[in-house]
Amino acid sequence: MEMHLYPVSLPLARPFGISRGVRREVHNVIVALRQGQEMGWGEAAPNARYGETQASALEFLKRLDLRPFELPQDLDRALDYVWNAGPGEFAAKAAVDIALHDLWARLQGQPLYRLWGLRPRASVQTSYTIGIDSLEAIEEKVREAERFPILKVKLGTPQDEAIIRTIRRITDRTVRVDANEGWEPEEALEKIRWLATQNVEFIEQPLAANRWEEQRWLREHSPLPIVADEAVHRSEDIPRVAEAYDGINVKLMKCGGLREARRMIEAARKLGLRVMVGCMVETSIAATAGAMLTPLVDWADLDGPLLLARDPFEGATIAEAAYVRLPERPGLGVRPRPGIPWPPQ
Ligand code: MG
Repeated sequence: MEMHLYPVSLPLARPFGISRGVRREVHNVIVALRQGQEMGWGEAAPNARYGETQASALEFLKRLDLRPFELPQDLDRALDYVWNAGPGEFAAKAAVDIALHDLWARLQGQPLYRLWGLRPRASVQTSYTIGIDSLEAIEEKVREAERFPILKVKLGTPQDEAIIRTIRRITDRTVRVDANEGWEPEEALEKIRWLATQNVEFIEQPLAANRWEEQRWLREHSPLPIVADEAVHRSEDIPRVAEAYDGINVKLMKCGGLREARRMIEAARKLGLRVMVGCMVETSIAATAGAMLTPLVDWADLDGPLLLARDPFEGATIAEAAYVRLPERPGLGVRPRPGIPWPPQ
């Protein structure tokens, strides 16, 4: 099969702030695999937190040679080849993994989830993320996000309490908090105790990912469940994570793709962890790949494409009350969105 790479710059609908900084645009790589008449789509959303850039992802991808592999029979061999092709670059690895899975299922004429023996669940709602911003802008965003019954609120600022109070003046909708490693241990416990009185469901990554001791202490005292994000990457991390957290946020870009994500979920379930599937700021290609895991998880945070000014692809959709709907088309069911030129000029 042949691989084509498309580096894309995707402007955001609005500036998006988290505890580490503000972004106005993301630089991803779209991967297209072609075998005969069929095409499989993948996407890398490289993350500076993990030392990745669009350039480093492209460099990794350009070295790959998938011509010796033929789908559907070589799926595992091709995935092994990509996994072992070099250190790091998990977003780039995820892009090829996603495209291979898409093409593999398309060649068999079936939706990917069906080939995995999964049934789409009608009951998983995605949260909608409210980034760090001025209180006025947060108020406006919360009002605009009326159709989303669950808000994921980014904290880790000197204004944390004011942000939650601003939101609570407008709505009593469920809030999930993501501090993106922005708190110190004592500060975290104090904030979590107060957040527990504010209809907050759980706290994501309160402390720096490497602070395992303090995180174990925090979990012991926290009235709310604590979910690992930056502290969990791949299935090998799960035993250590289970000692310090109540759940994990699985992201294809962190773990290197769908095969490893499914291994993570299996390992997490064996140790009694709750599971969320999350995403980066990405198009409907990567977000739809994430959505294929919704039959296996408790929580979904798949709003990446909604943060873009324009999503060049369509796939999984967000229905009434933010329920995630999987396409019934073969593979991932993604395709270029009508009316948006593809490939980019
Ligand atoms: Mg997070």
